[in-house]
Amino acid sequence: MVILIINCGSSSIKYQLYDMPGKTVMAKGLVERIGEAASALIHRRGEEKFEINQSIPNHKTGIELILSCLVSPDKGVLKNVNQISAIGHRVVHGGERYSNAMRIDGDVIACIEECCDLAPLHNPPNLVGINECLAALPGVPMVAVFDTAFHQTLPREAYLYGLPYEIYERYRIRKYGFHGTSHAYVTYRAAVLLGKPASEINIITCHLGNGSSMAAVKNGKSVDTSMGFTPLAGLVMGTRSGDIDPAIIPYLMSKQEYSKLSDIDQLLNKKSGLLGVSGVSNDMRNLQEAAARGGPSSRAQLAIDIFCHRIKGFVGQYLAILGRVDAVCFMGGIGENGVAVRGQCLAGLENFGIAVDPDKNRNFPRGQECDISRNGSPTRVFVIPTDEEGWIAEETHKLCQ
Ligand code: ADP
Repeated sequence: MVILIINCGSSSIKYQLYDMPGKTVMAKGLVERIGEAASALIHRRGEEKFEINQSIPNHKTGIELILSCLVSPDKGVLKNVNQISAIGHRVVHGGERYSNAMRIDGDVIACIEECCDLAPLHNPPNLVGINECLAALPGVPMVAVFDTAFHQTLPREAYLYGLPYEIYERYRIRKYGFHGTSHAYVTYRAAVLLGKPASEINIITCHLGNGSSMAAVKNGKSVDTSMGFTPLAGLVMGTRSGDIDPAIIPYLMSKQEYSKLSDIDQLLNKKSGLLGVSGVSNDMRNLQEAAARGGPSSRAQLAIDIFCHRIKGFVGQYLAILGRVDAVCFMGGIGENGVAVRGQCLAGLENFGIAVDPDKNRNFPRGQECDISRNGSPTRVFVIPTDEEGWIAEETHKLCQ
């Protein structure tokens, strides 16, 4: 069964074509800078890479170009687009309605539309992707996999803020959480590595990338997570502040420089986090290089220290919430590759049963799952390469078989 996965952003479309159930990647790629002069499609088939530079004025053209690439005699992997049996879409926000992936019908589309208010940057392009695929491949079943779905199991005391209850009722303001596909996939893999059913494991999952979030998973279900009403909350990220005292916002807005809402929005989403603290970069590798040059008193090192301190704080919070923790799992670009970060986040937690083995941490097999915990320590520490697209393909396959 051939399944196409689409992740449609405001100016980009990522795609991956799978042969299921084996989860073999047949082809994948990215349409970027839609609507700009330098738009392009980068298509990969195995080790081969093709770059098509042409005008891609809108998502409709982007989807058409992807489909034509998939069936092209020199770059493609299919004879005909009719070989595509189902399409899985990554959708950021499913509100309170969806705790699972859904076959797309009129109701699901209406709900995604309703949630545009909650995710104005993400749900509208996700919808465009769904509608363009409907137009290009009518009759092919489609599935929506929501970033929020895995966290719909949070109990009320975890998802409600200390605001008047009417604010939740009237405006749907609550913690939703994001990166659900990654946390769900890693929970599934951790259960395999622990040799237990997912319903019997308690774990802490740390998705550390440019955007970062953590989750407390009890008996296989998310019971707390660091992102909130939006992905701005929680950990310090590449350019996002993470949690701050909310009183900072009106205080800053009383100053001329930040008097506009759009300035505050830019400040917290684009100019803060690792970039804002270091003044060097939002990228962890660049920061590590800068810190190695600048030494322990450099702002690059300070940014790394704040990043790790915040993660450790959430580990402590989740240890308390979960009581017993079978494993701490690292995933995402920094989680999977950041040796020093992993060590620093979990340093000094031996009394809580968590200890990283420095040799295993340093010599882990890149791109593979591994256990980097010290022999005999009660809580395992796993590095698990995340696979969000693969998980969307699995969910789509389950619902369209
Ligand atoms: P996104 O959230 O955009 O998907 P990724 O999950 O790809 O981001 O993670 C990007 C981050 O991973 C960057 O900060 C990058 O520096 C970091 N990263 C990648 N490789 C390494 C490495 N070897 N050591 C430390 N950080 C790394």
